[in-house]
Amino acid sequence: DGAPSTELIEAQIRDIPDFPHAGILFKDITPLLNHREAFAAAVDGLCAPYRGLGVDHVVGLEARGFIFGAPVAMELGAGFVPARKAGKLPARTIDQSYDLEYGTATVEIHADAIVPGSRVLIVDDVLATGGTGRAAVDLVRKAGGTVVGFSVLMELSALHGREKLPDVELHALLSA
Ligand code: AMP
Repeated sequence: DGAPSTELIEAQIRDIPDFPHAGILFKDITPLLNHREAFAAAVDGLCAPYRGLGVDHVVGLEARGFIFGAPVAMELGAGFVPARKAGKLPARTIDQSYDLEYGTATVEIHADAIVPGSRVLIVDDVLATGGTGRAAVDLVRKAGGTVVGFSVLMELSALHGREKLPDVELHALLSA
């Protein structure tokens, strides 16, 4: 925290008030993606705590977790597994549902993507309420994988998502 690269990353995340709904302060990471130095620093920061831990697969959470998760997988010498919303993956899937403010949502991975004993790092851009992350952790474990960690760019600490993940090595590059 406070390191030059952290400041560089933070400066490229844009706050958009009332998107997609009134009262939500949306963290727009597209300027970060378009800034080569900041993007590289972000990918490096997401990887850093997990180097040398034998990560086999990086699971990226739709959709922005794909953008960060793929280069993290390359850096760590791991495979990449997309975790998608229900109905998007073509082959046999396993799924995990979770509660939203109104209703439920489901995340899926391909059933053969993670095998028992796989060491998995989960990646996303923002941790908000923690519902998505919780579902992803449970999904990886359902597949028999070991969750090595959950790495996010930014944690919205006022929403207490971390409290939903007491059993996970959670790493956030930035906190807001
Ligand atoms: P949650 O399940 O509440 O932790 O929400 C996390 C997911 O929703 C992540 O995939 C984020 O990309 C997205 N998300 C939630 N809140 C925000 C926000 N304020 N700004 C940007 N993305 C958000």
